[in-house]
Amino acid sequence: MNDYGEQIVPGFAYRFQGEQLVSERSDFQQIDIYENPSFGRLLMLDGLTQTTERDEFIYHEMLVHVPLMSLENPRRVLIIGGGDGGTLRRVLEHPSVKLAVMVEIDRRVTELCRELMPSIAGDAFDDPRAEVLFADGIAYVRDGGEAFDAILIDSSDPVGPGEGLFTIDFYRAAAARLTDGGVLCAQSGSPGFQQDELHRAYSHATKAFGDVRVYVGFVPTYPGGMWSFTLAGAALSLDPSAAAARAAERKIGARYWRPELQRGAFDVPQIVHDVIAPDGPPHTWGLSPAEHDRA
Ligand code: SAM
Repeated sequence: MNDYGEQIVPGFAYRFQGEQLVSERSDFQQIDIYENPSFGRLLMLDGLTQTTERDEFIYHEMLVHVPLMSLENPRRVLIIGGGDGGTLRRVLEHPSVKLAVMVEIDRRVTELCRELMPSIAGDAFDDPRAEVLFADGIAYVRDGGEAFDAILIDSSDPVGPGEGLFTIDFYRAAAARLTDGGVLCAQSGSPGFQQDELHRAYSHATKAFGDVRVYVGFVPTYPGGMWSFTLAGAALSLDPSAAAARAAERKIGARYWRPELQRGAFDVPQIVHDVIAPDGPPHTWGLSPAEHDRA
């Protein structure tokens, strides 16, 4: 039984046990997949937990359903990253979606997840509405083309290939690729342990969008459990009763998301407000290793 894990901040780490199924260095990152007795198969990139078979539904439902339920009729959706296919699967649960383009930089992540963690994507990769491209999402968004009703950033942390997905230039380029009333939603890290990441995602998004809000969900295998998402658009509409009607009409069977979260998930604790405040972040619990190295 392997013992592996993730250093969260100096002196505090997450430890997992289980058999290692794959350990491969791709052109972009270190890819490791493990078998874990409690969370099923678990993907790590560059030593950071990305997704597990048993709690992926929480992250993916919150990244997808909150933005798509805020839209009356989402038809064209762009996913940046999301190599495991969990975001693509939830997007395709919305019947109004006619095209879901997924732009993943690392083909090996998708190939290995399809082979070893197929339950996460289900049959999303075979859906005729899905278009999967292996390319850099930053260039794809920057280089123009057709507009989307929603752009979902399911990226790894802002290190390595994911760094450029948290910049003002990227958010401005993404804003230009949205239809009128379109929204962008990005995973923005742990409000406890990645306070610089969340502060940067939020403050940069406010330079590109008129209405930017942060909401949270709880993903057990992510650092600290509480995870943040940054939703942005010209004028967001977050109405639980409209979402309830849409969920019924779209027959969305969710295990974590519920219509009340269209408002409830945005009632974030004071610490999140402190992190995104102009004079934030407060660095409540020490700096993360990356921040520590930079400090
Ligand atoms: N849920 C995870 C999280 O919150 O950390 C993210 C999971 S998903 C596997 C992250 C994906 O983003 C990876 O497969 C990675 O290769 C991809 N990625 C990172 N930078 C990218 C870029 N610039 N363009 C496209 N995909 C990128």
